[in-house]
Amino acid sequence: MIMLAPMHAEIVRVPVSDELAYWTVLAGPTLAVVGDVDDHLRHLRFGRAREESTTKTYAGHLKRFHVWADERGFSRHEAAFRLPAYVMHLRTTPRATSGRGYGRLPEDATLAPALAAIHGFYLHLADLGRVEAAVVDALFTTVPAQSGGAVAVRPRIRVDARPSHASARPPAATQEEFTKVLEAAETARDRCMVAIMACCALRVGQLVALKREDIHFIPAGRTVPECSYLQGSHLHLRKRGGHPKGAANKNRGTVILPVPSPVEMLYADWLRERRTVRRAGASPWAFVTFPGPTGAPGSEALSARRVQDLLAGLSTRAGLRHLHPHMLRHTFGETAADLDIARDVLQRLLGHSDVTSQDVYRTVSDAKTVIAANAVSDRFFGPS
Ligand SMILES: [Zn+2]
Repeated sequence: MIMLAPMHAEIVRVPVSDELAYWTVLAGPTLAVVGDVDDHLRHLRFGRAREESTTKTYAGHLKRFHVWADERGFSRHEAAFRLPAYVMHLRTTPRATSGRGYGRLPEDATLAPALAAIHGFYLHLADLGRVEAAVVDALFTTVPAQSGGAVAVRPRIRVDARPSHASARPPAATQEEFTKVLEAAETARDRCMVAIMACCALRVGQLVALKREDIHFIPAGRTVPECSYLQGSHLHLRKRGGHPKGAANKNRGTVILPVPSPVEMLYADWLRERRTVRRAGASPWAFVTFPGPTGAPGSEALSARRVQDLLAGLSTRAGLRHLHPHMLRHTFGETAADLDIARDVLQRLLGHSDVTSQDVYRTVSDAKTVIAANAVSDRFFGPS
């Protein structure tokens, strides 16, 4: 087989309005839009109202598939018939991108979404008549449709979609690892982000999607305009679109999280440091980029990937294993469980349910969650 030089491809965010965007795939020497893939991703976002973050994930999977097929000269038709070879290719290719699973072979749980993206893409192509029925038959078990033609029922190639233990739940960072990463951080911003992920159990997507207006650092008993929360410093996790790097906050509705005082102090440090970043004053995002060595002006929103890379760099500098942001969230969960924090309180701290939809018989008071958040923080920092 003749192998060409690796094809250049990337995914990009396409803003359609202030709040609406989808992700697409660019490929080839001129990084041109991949037409049929772009049609499909736009259809997912606007025809089927899928989340922007879904189109980002699918764009990543379809980019890899497109590159694999293109480098081998396969048409869409041929590539469909060679899908088993592609699955083998995925299974035997370590992840080259940073983040969770870097350098490791993918597990079945991570192959399943890649296949789902490809299957959905081909069904769309078939709907549009861009691939023949034979392609659908190759990919799916089909049954005859009453209106003529066939209905795809079930993909022929499947991997076990049940997440394995390892992929479902990366191990928690230990409290020692948390402390060492904090010490390794060279900027107030990074210290604050590490602390907020561990002490507030934020997911990385929630962290980068935080806006300054979401952060209410006030003494207990005081309120800020348009917020009636009285229990002291807190932040709001809001579901909203429009993040320039496609980060998604997967909460339903808005969640209020108490913020312990060490995190508040680190945030104040970051706000001082932030004043040195030109134009950061105009940015709505809580955390922004620094000016880059190659002349990037800084003060842009951070991507989830950027934070993953930052944490990976800090863990390397601290002489630790590769830490992923989610491992800090688990540090919170494990520490809280060690402290026997009630299940329902912890459920709320981890943002697993909306504040307003608490079961009336298991209502957790705001005061109780503040005590719990501070108890966890005391394990990290010592009593404040
Ligand atoms: Zn508030």
